[in-house]
Amino acid sequence: MLRTHTCGELRLSDKGKTVTLTGWVGKVRDKGALLWIDLRDRYGITQLLFEDKNKETIEIARSFGREYVILAEGEVIERVSKNDKIATGEVEIRVSSVKLLNAAKLPPFLIEDETDGGEELRMKYRYLDLRRNPVRQSLELRHKMAQEVRKYLDSQNFLEVETPVLIKSTPEGARDFVVPSRMNPGEFYALPQSPQTFKQLLMVSGFDRYFQIVKCFRDEDLRADRQPEFTQIDCEMSFVTQEDILQTFEGLIRHLFKFVKDIELPALPRMTFADAAKYYGSDKPDTRFEMKFAELKSPSESEDLVSGKGFNVFDSVPMVIAITAKGAGEYTRKQIDELTEWVKRPQIGAKGLIYVKCEQDGTFKSSVDKFYGQEDLAKWAAKAGATKGDLILVLSGEVNTARKQMNELRLEMGTRLGLRDKNTYSCLWVVDFPMVEYGEEEKRWFAMHHPFTEPNPEDEHFLDTDPGQIRANAYDMVINGGEVGGGSIRIFNKDLQAKIFTLLGFSDEEAKKQFGFLMEAFEFGAPPHGGLAFGFDRLCSLFGGAEIIRDFIAFPKNTSGRDVMIDSPSTINPAQLDELKISVKV
Ligand code: ASP
Repeated sequence: MLRTHTCGELRLSDKGKTVTLTGWVGKVRDKGALLWIDLRDRYGITQLLFEDKNKETIEIARSFGREYVILAEGEVIERVSKNDKIATGEVEIRVSSVKLLNAAKLPPFLIEDETDGGEELRMKYRYLDLRRNPVRQSLELRHKMAQEVRKYLDSQNFLEVETPVLIKSTPEGARDFVVPSRMNPGEFYALPQSPQTFKQLLMVSGFDRYFQIVKCFRDEDLRADRQPEFTQIDCEMSFVTQEDILQTFEGLIRHLFKFVKDIELPALPRMTFADAAKYYGSDKPDTRFEMKFAELKSPSESEDLVSGKGFNVFDSVPMVIAITAKGAGEYTRKQIDELTEWVKRPQIGAKGLIYVKCEQDGTFKSSVDKFYGQEDLAKWAAKAGATKGDLILVLSGEVNTARKQMNELRLEMGTRLGLRDKNTYSCLWVVDFPMVEYGEEEKRWFAMHHPFTEPNPEDEHFLDTDPGQIRANAYDMVINGGEVGGGSIRIFNKDLQAKIFTLLGFSDEEAKKQFGFLMEAFEFGAPPHGGLAFGFDRLCSLFGGAEIIRDFIAFPKNTSGRDVMIDSPSTINPAQLDELKISVKV
């Protein structure tokens, strides 16, 4: 190596040593007789001291600009004014000789923890952005997580197997990215949305336990935290029940929390999809805080605490939901008005917001006092678990709409009341998802997970009568209100699989064309199997206490799916198109 030590390595115990360091020039302070340079590399920052008595060296140092790459040799000495913010802060190097390895143009933004560079600029010069501590640390965290994933899964006998990237559509329900085949004009590969069918085939092959940290591709309209290419921890196991899978991967997540964050996670609670909908209005409830829904009126509740009092808004809808914001009884009129405006925004779409304040003297004050007496409101409070000093918020409407809107309001109140700390983690399994949901527009059933998901045998009899009632042996892992992983027990019987394809509207011919290979494989001794996949980028950002996943990906795409650094996607030249026998109309 050109250096003897890294910039993060030297301590007071190294005092007196002659060392050589290499790195990038950060901050420079020139006091005339003395000049200091912060020398930076991946491992840290070490302060270099240049003295006037070594004229030639200080003059060379004076010619350095930010981000110049240099090599400096000198003696480790104790610093007069120590810096306890960095690990090397007790020492500096009295430089005896220095060499420029490479000059640098002035970077377009500051390479500091707090940079002045905007998102677009940072992405264009991502290699410079990656020099910044927070971004590099995010990738270090990712590396550590990948190592721990491998360690745990290897210890559980999982084999890491690579599956192909040039494949044929996988039925995950999103659009495929396609790649034209030059050797087969007019034909296309698809990039995998997941290795789903391959990992099932590996089970037929007897691999028993498979995993892969793998790139997947989905051509979806991008939302803020979506990337067209993303990474999954993809897993599959044979001869297992759902319980075995939940235990194994609960083990993985607990291992990660323990070895990456030093957090002992309690056993993961399980919640049915139906309960998640009823109490949180979401299949990925944020359980860092309670604030559960209380249904004051609902098709599934025998008790109706709101109808028949002359308040038409509640009389005319099937669902009235309350939540209790603990300690928010002090909210002012202005705050409540503002909250009302918030729920009425088109993104939420509520018609209005009813409130009940639980006063300190035990009385209630509400926006519907005209219709509901103290006794009525006391019943609401009892049902919603509200006591003195609390604020009850009520929304109403159609069942699913009211639930969705209340989910948004609950999360918003959680945020406003400071109940969603990024460094607190609440993990759970959501189980018993419906197998299919009905697409009103398309007038057909869609698989809620994917078409290979096994129906709960107890519900199979609904197949011909009421498919919407069928629960699937499918599960999601949810952390802090985000789905981090999901999977299912698979169908491994050819006849049942054929039946499900029919339910999902595949003709025999289509099913055969798309999945014939899998159906055939099932005739050669397929073991019972199941698995799941975790979204690795999201998991990393969660562990990093960040909301956006971009910083945990070395070279991400922007929200329009572009890589602005390499300027992709881009057109290709006509000769390439000819070779592919493709004509482009834009
Ligand atoms: N392939 C599924 C997904 O990507 C996961 C699974 O069922 O294992 O969501």
